[in-house]
Amino acid sequence: MFSRPQRGILIPLAAITLGLAGALSGSTAGAVAPTGDPAAAAPETADGATVVRNVVMAVHGGAGSLPRGSITPEQEQAFRSGLERALRAGVAAINEGRPSLDAVEAAVRVLEDDPNFNAGKGAVFNTDGEQELDASIMNGRDQRSGAVAGVHNTKNPISLARMVMERSRHVLMAGRGADIFALQNGVPYTTQDYFFTQRRWDALIAAKNPPPSAADLVGETVGAVAIDRNRDIAAATSTGGLTNKLVGRVGDSPIIGAGTYANNRTLAISCTGTGEVFIRGVAAYDISAQMEYGGRSVQRAAANVITEKIPALGATGGAIALDPNGRLATPHSTDGLINAYITRDGTIVTRIYNDETPPR
Ligand code: ASP
Repeated sequence: MFSRPQRGILIPLAAITLGLAGALSGSTAGAVAPTGDPAAAAPETADGATVVRNVVMAVHGGAGSLPRGSITPEQEQAFRSGLERALRAGVAAINEGRPSLDAVEAAVRVLEDDPNFNAGKGAVFNTDGEQELDASIMNGRDQRSGAVAGVHNTKNPISLARMVMERSRHVLMAGRGADIFALQNGVPYTTQDYFFTQRRWDALIAAKNPPPSAADLVGETVGAVAIDRNRDIAAATSTGGLTNKLVGRVGDSPIIGAGTYANNRTLAISCTGTGEVFIRGVAAYDISAQMEYGGRSVQRAAANVITEKIPALGATGGAIALDPNGRLATPHSTDGLINAYITRDGTIVTRIYNDETPPR
């Protein structure tokens, strides 16, 4: 079983090690004995940017500042265990031989159900005091994708995004039609009060009373990337968007190529940050294109877009970017990026504080 995460946060998880050994195929498939060696799961600098090797799956809980001392030990534990439960749900799918698409959907559902994150239950409020939820999912093997924008009553928008991909002839559905499509396909429907949390309501009231706090505007969007035993990769992102956003505003999270992208030739990526600028910068696809046409490594391409091009366009954010060889980059131009990953030998790392997340 999984160990409880601790500060620091490198946890060998022997019980799942064997199941993960086949998740990275190619020259290394099944060839590396489980070590549970934390050093093997530590970030290193290569090609001018930070990378972690042998990663099977990663999740994020949004770009933003989480300085040590800014949350209680109970809140810290809640964030870490939420990320860990998401990884565990995703890795269980991979261990059962299911596709990476199942893994990223399962992980994001856990984070959507967790009130600490800005997706599903706990999503931020728009100017009318409602939640409008955005999500997308993409399969790297064939680049099939599905997305929903501005849904009001769907409990797990990521599952609706997948349903759009698999049961409609469309890629992106918005608003009322998307909620109706959920009803027609048996995706659990809920009333808006389900999404309510006091913390997000307080943030809306604060944002409506200028000057708004920058920290209230962006944060705790969720996403996941994974590799399965066939070496197929997938990505998923889900969010309530920005606190006090205009009714009808759609960010980057449901836009394929901006907030989410997956392509077996390059990477699976989920972005977080000021969505308008990620759309203008076509951020996720730019990173993929730099890899595909420019021969750049995942860490170099992701660092270029997230820490140089996006700030040059006037905003900040972060991403989890995983290539099909298990190399994970987690660049961010915000103070921090809440994220966690699991490596082939079963080591889990959770990183929630600024000083745990190297920026490039
Ligand atoms: N990218 C999201 C949006 O603009 C927000 C975030 O990641 O915090 O909707």
